[in-house]
Amino acid sequence: MEKKASTALIHHPYRPPEGFDSPQPGIFKASSVFFPNVAAMRSREWKDKTAYTYGLHGTPSSYTLEERLCTLEGGLQCVLAPSGLAALALVSLSMLRSGDEVLLPDNVYEPNKSLVEAELKHWGITHQFYDPMDLADLESKLSDKTRLVWLEAAGSVTLEFPDLPALVRLCTAKGICTALDNTWGAGIAFNPFDLLPGVVPALGVDISTQALTKYPSGGGDVLMGSVITRDPALHMRIKLTHMRLGLNVGSNDVELVLRALPSIYLRYRAHDTSTRAVAAWCQAQPEFVQVLHPALPSSPGHAHWRSLCTDAAACLFSVVLDARFSQAQVYAFVDALRLFRLAYSWAGPISLVVPYDLARSRGRWPAQVARGAVVRFAVGLEDPQDLQADIAQALALLRT
Ligand SMILES: *Cc1c(COP(=O)(O)O)cnc(C)c1O
Repeated sequence: MEKKASTALIHHPYRPPEGFDSPQPGIFKASSVFFPNVAAMRSREWKDKTAYTYGLHGTPSSYTLEERLCTLEGGLQCVLAPSGLAALALVSLSMLRSGDEVLLPDNVYEPNKSLVEAELKHWGITHQFYDPMDLADLESKLSDKTRLVWLEAAGSVTLEFPDLPALVRLCTAKGICTALDNTWGAGIAFNPFDLLPGVVPALGVDISTQALTKYPSGGGDVLMGSVITRDPALHMRIKLTHMRLGLNVGSNDVELVLRALPSIYLRYRAHDTSTRAVAAWCQAQPEFVQVLHPALPSSPGHAHWRSLCTDAAACLFSVVLDARFSQAQVYAFVDALRLFRLAYSWAGPISLVVPYDLARSRGRWPAQVARGAVVRFAVGLEDPQDLQADIAQALALLRT
C-alpha cells in the first residue's frame, strides 16, 4: 500500500528483538562492537550497513534514524553529524579541494559564510556570493573552478524565496554539484530531490542537509545534523570524509530525534498556522514597514514559494521596523517581549526572537527588503493570540 511520508514515518520498518514489540525502537550504544573471530573482524563491511564494526561507524540506532530521515526527505542515503553546522562543514570538506570555488547565496545561514571566509580560504578554496533572487547573477559567477553551489529556501533571516528549480537546473546543466540547506523545508514543504513532481527525469538537488536541531528534534534540547543524497558514489565520498573526521552522534540524542519524528508533520502544521496568524497581524502594525514571510504576497519570492511548496511555510517571519526608531528603541522593544524569549534556533515549543544587524552581516542590503532594523521571530506552540498580545504590549513601548 502506497503511504504518505507522514504515515510511513510512523509505520516504519523495524525488527524488535524476538518476543518484544513496542512503539519506539530500541536504542543501542557502543564504542566497541564484538567480533566472534578474526575472520569476522577482517571481513565485516560497515560501509554498506550489512554489519557493525565500531560505534563510530554506526549502530542499529543511528541506522534506524538515517533510514527514517531518508523517508522524510525522499533520499536514499544519510549521514548524521553532531550539529546542523557540522553537516554543512562536512559537505564542503567532502566536495572541495584546493583550487576549487564554492558559491553561496548572499542570504546564506551566517556560520556557513564564516566557514568559507575563515577556514576554507586557508586551504586554497575560494568563494563568491550570489544573489539567489537573480538567476543571471548566479550564471555569471559559475566557472570552470565552481565545484559546489549552496542553496537555501527560504533564505536566512530575510526569508526571500528563490526560484529553486531554476537555480538547480542551471547548475545541473553544467554538471556542478548542488547542496541545499533544507532546514526550513524539513522535507515537508517540498521534496528536495523532486522539485517538479511529474517531470522526468526528476529535477533535484544532489545533497540535502538539515539541522535536525530544528523540526526533527522539536524540543530545543538537541543538536544534530543530516546529509542526505540519492547517489551512492556521492554518499560514499561524504561518508568516508565523515568517518575520517571522526564525527559521531550520541545514541541518547538519536533516541530523542526518533521519538520526535512521528509528530513532525503535526508540529510543522501547527507552527505554520500560528505563524501566519501572527505575521498577518504584524502586517497591520504601523511600526513595522515590512513583514517577511514567504506565504505573504508582499514577501520577496512569494510566487516561487507558492509554486514549489505544498502550502507549508515553517515557523519563521521577520519584521522591518520603521527607520525612525533608534537601535536603543529596537532593543528595548525586543527586551520587553515576555513569551518570545531572546535566543537562537527555532522549531521548539517556545517562541524565540533575535534582532539582526543586516548592514553588518550582509555585503549589500537585500534589494527587496525595506531599510530598517530587522527582528526575526520564531513562533512556537503557544496560543497565537497570546503571542500577538505579547508583541502588542512590547510595541506599546515604542508608542510612548
Ligand atoms: C540552525 C541552522 C543551522 C545549524 O544548525 P545547528 O544544529 O545549530 O548547528 C544550519 N542552517 C540553518 C538554516 C539553520 O537554521
